[in-house]
Amino acid sequence: MGAVALYSGLGLWHHILPIDLIAILATLVGGYPIYKEAFQSLRHKQINMEVSMAVAIIASLAVGQFTAAVVIAFFVILAEFLESYAVETGRETITKLELSAPKKALVIRGGREIEIDAQSLAVGDHVVIRGGERAPADGIVVQGSAVVNQASITGETIPVDKNVGSYVYAGTVNDSGTLEILAEKIGGETVYGKIIKLVEEAESRKAPIQKIADRLSAWLVEFAIAFSIITYLATRNIISAISVVVVAGACGVAAGTPLAIVATIGSAAKKGVIVKGGRYIEQMDRIDTVVIDKTGTLTFGEPVVTDVEPFGDCSERELLQYAAQAEKHSNHPIATAIVRRAAEMGISAEAYSTFSYVPGKGVAVRSDGREIVVGNQIMMKEEGVRLTDDITAKVTRRASEGKTTVLVAHDKRVRGFITIRDRIREGSREAIEELKRLGIRTIMLTGDNKPAAEAVAMQIGTEVYAELLPQDKVELIKDLMATGHRVAMVGDGINDAPALAYADVGIGMGGGTDVAAEEADIVLMTNDLSKISETVRMSKRTYRTIMENFYGTVIIDGIGVALAFLGYLNPLLAAVVHVASELVFISNSARLIWSS
Ligand code: ADP
Ligand code: MG
Repeated sequence: MGAVALYSGLGLWHHILPIDLIAILATLVGGYPIYKEAFQSLRHKQINMEVSMAVAIIASLAVGQFTAAVVIAFFVILAEFLESYAVETGRETITKLELSAPKKALVIRGGREIEIDAQSLAVGDHVVIRGGERAPADGIVVQGSAVVNQASITGETIPVDKNVGSYVYAGTVNDSGTLEILAEKIGGETVYGKIIKLVEEAESRKAPIQKIADRLSAWLVEFAIAFSIITYLATRNIISAISVVVVAGACGVAAGTPLAIVATIGSAAKKGVIVKGGRYIEQMDRIDTVVIDKTGTLTFGEPVVTDVEPFGDCSERELLQYAAQAEKHSNHPIATAIVRRAAEMGISAEAYSTFSYVPGKGVAVRSDGREIVVGNQIMMKEEGVRLTDDITAKVTRRASEGKTTVLVAHDKRVRGFITIRDRIREGSREAIEELKRLGIRTIMLTGDNKPAAEAVAMQIGTEVYAELLPQDKVELIKDLMATGHRVAMVGDGINDAPALAYADVGIGMGGGTDVAAEEADIVLMTNDLSKISETVRMSKRTYRTIMENFYGTVIIDGIGVALAFLGYLNPLLAAVVHVASELVFISNSARLIWSS
């Protein structure tokens, strides 16, 4: 009764025409999703954009602004449609990844090729991949050879040769020839499956900036409602009050932020950079120091023996034999190089019964009271092997050529030393230069000896900290962070795990396949160091876009509210401004989908 009295009191009730009834009906039916959302939000004691719009619509109806009510409802629905369309498009960059996994597989069963659903593949199946087709599983080539494009995994567009014994990854494309592989990993267990899972998880995790966006947008809505009441009290003009609520929608922030993040995660994945959450995009934007592990990252991590220098009566062969006997049990790159050289020279290394590895120092083996120690000078000292100045001088000379040197001791006597050289990865220097250009400090870390490390650092132009034990690397990162630096650590994820985990952002170089690298926040699928600066750039662009949306929304809302307060905006115009601004901010974020 009160409502009717109010209507008649305002003198509007008897002016309702049939066309107005249609408008009222259209508003109530068409705007249903808005009322539903608003109601749900209120039940959770929250005020969102739908609440303010529902208020605006009902208020418009109440004062007889039927056309305005229809238009507001229409534009709000349109805005929401645009919003979800844009976010879907962003998400598609990820879904597209998924679509490239083949649905069918050709397997050999009972000597015949039969086509089955990729889902019913089993480990141990012999799978045939014809030219032009995608591999449905990870596995070893048992027959045939082909050129395979691995872009779906590594982002590299140059195809690679695959022969018997090579490993083929699900999702990669056989450009020519026919391959038969023995399936080793299927479905979600494949590298490709893991990438998709990681990217999907990344997308569902809220970045801190997103929480700020949500808060800002909630705050803007509350402000709009409060200011609308003030407007009514000050001007006694209900039309101005409605316009205030409608113009201050704030959805540019709400929709633009997740879209920007999803777009960037998706396009990074396409380039072979797996970002495990929006928060790392935010952090990469702020990084000021990149710490890089030398071995396997700046260098190939596949060193070769360059010099074998025995002392006294020891021969080269004997020295290599001692070294190989000790290194046989180790899988350190140094050990691999030594064992390989010994094998090439036809030297057989018999096993010793006990083996010990001291990370960052070396290895020792013992058997029947005999003992071999291979490692750096610290290792020798700790094992009670005496070093003369003469030995130290010789080792230093070799090291200053940029080579890693390891001493070989037999029964507490140094018998000579072996030098090993690891090639610097091409592009390392350029990648470091790029980072510097972005104003980022670069530091190389290594357990290698100082002269060798310094020679490498000189060549690629980084600061260097050498002779570090694994725990020293973590300490260094802690110190940097404690002094206010924001640090990204780049490593191969094997012995650098603690440092990767400790840094603000841990970047793992998976060598192409180790996406599972648990400690890494970002995984580079190729050993391409230029991806680091590229990721920084993408992150900066993403963050800048989000900020543009923040400020843009606040400014437009501010101007709109002022105009509405002064009576220059009617609800119709306010709705148009609202949607237009939303469109601008969504497009701004959507640029990130295509711009990379
Ligand atoms: P990086 O920091 O380059 O990854 P590590 O911490 O693995 O190096 O090793 C640091 C140093 O410790 C090496 O340069 C070498 O002198 C010694 N060292 C480590 N492992 C071995 C090994 N298996 N055999 C001989 N020396 C080793
Ligand atoms: Mg290492």
